[in-house]
Amino acid sequence: MTSPIAEHWDLIYPASPPRSRLYSLQPIGVGTPWVESLTGYMARLAEAHCVSPGDLIANELKSLASKSHGKSYLHQTSSSTESLNSTGRMALELVQALEYQTLRLDLRYLTLLSWADILPPKGLLRRIRAWCPSCYNEWQHNQKPIYEPLLWALETVSICLKHRQQLRSCCPKCQRQLPALAWHSKPGYCSRCYQWLGTTLTPEVATLTTNPDELKWQRWVLENVGKLLETAPSLLKAPTRERISRSLSVCISRTVEGNIAEFARQLGTHKSAVWQWKSGKALPQLSMLLKICQILEIDLLNFLFNPESLTNTRDSLAILVKRDFPSQKPKQQLDTDQVQEFLQSALIEEPPPTMKAVAQTLGHNSRSLRRRFPELCSAISARYLNYRDQVRAAKVQESCQEVRQIALKLYGEGIDPTRSYISRYLSKPAYFREPAVVAVLESTRQELGLKNS
Ligand SMILES: [Zn+2]
Ligand SMILES: [Zn+2]
Repeated sequence: MTSPIAEHWDLIYPASPPRSRLYSLQPIGVGTPWVESLTGYMARLAEAHCVSPGDLIANELKSLASKSHGKSYLHQTSSSTESLNSTGRMALELVQALEYQTLRLDLRYLTLLSWADILPPKGLLRRIRAWCPSCYNEWQHNQKPIYEPLLWALETVSICLKHRQQLRSCCPKCQRQLPALAWHSKPGYCSRCYQWLGTTLTPEVATLTTNPDELKWQRWVLENVGKLLETAPSLLKAPTRERISRSLSVCISRTVEGNIAEFARQLGTHKSAVWQWKSGKALPQLSMLLKICQILEIDLLNFLFNPESLTNTRDSLAILVKRDFPSQKPKQQLDTDQVQEFLQSALIEEPPPTMKAVAQTLGHNSRSLRRRFPELCSAISARYLNYRDQVRAAKVQESCQEVRQIALKLYGEGIDPTRSYISRYLSKPAYFREPAVVAVLESTRQELGLKNS
């Protein structure tokens, strides 16, 4: 007989929401200009799982792995990982693979996919990773998550406005450039030597890194591109390429009465290029689009969605062109006192930077710096070379000890510790090219009563 209590038992399984295979990690800054990049998200997600992005893709994103024809996906795409943040197939495939595994629907906003129809890939994203070391440092200091804003990946963005300094693209320790996503990428760290990439520059020094014209241009770029990134999640329908030709037609007819040749002249470009953009046969690159908008004094979003808001007349256009258009990269002026102060501070920076890295941070040519400050620049170079020699000597010493330990271990296991056998276990086999390392092997073999290998 059924008990009265059992009659009230509900034997139907409660409906539970689907579970994601990977953590449903929330992306940073969606719907703001500071949204993170998809490659940066991939690196953070891998870190949350305590694995490298390379391993995470190889083991969990099988749809990508199956496209790599035997080679690992990241190795196959190593020369073009910036495309993972862009507008094309690679970005779409990674978004779909990650959305499937995390059950998120907002990862496409970490790329430029929303603008795929109006932004040509050429000149859109820089081929190497760029970062603001002061932003990294500030986030670390304030215990905020370290991440890679999508803005830093754009070719047209060259400075951090907050810290008034050029973005860096060369690791201060190993002096190498980094891809957008590498096997061992980790936000804030070099994917090659694993060095922390954050540093602090004093405000006086940091303002040096750009001049007023460049600052003005970058302010315009960041404001307008920032609005594109901010708007992407709320777009009801992605804009099509016809928008560009329609907006250009309106602008050309309002400012130069439909005269394409005149408009091209004002822009400093060929009239056939303007004609192709206007007729929809080609698209202007993002930097050109921003320049057009700056000259017309119209926001990029208004240009795309509301070109009728343009109020400029022919006269104001001509004046604007002369006054504002940055036709070439502005020539940088050297402020002697501040540069000298910066070079002196580089002499006590740890680890010692190269002269190339110092010049890059200052935003000046290293040759002109050497001409103006020969002694300080020589001292910076000499200090770096000395540091590099010390690092190398320490690594050789480490390899010597490692070779001896491995040789003794192998011998203890009854294996002849030959050079080729030891190389398999050595953390840096290339150091076997060093005579000191070879000498340690020979002396250890002699000690063990073995013939030299
Ligand atoms: Zn910054
Ligand atoms: Zn490095």
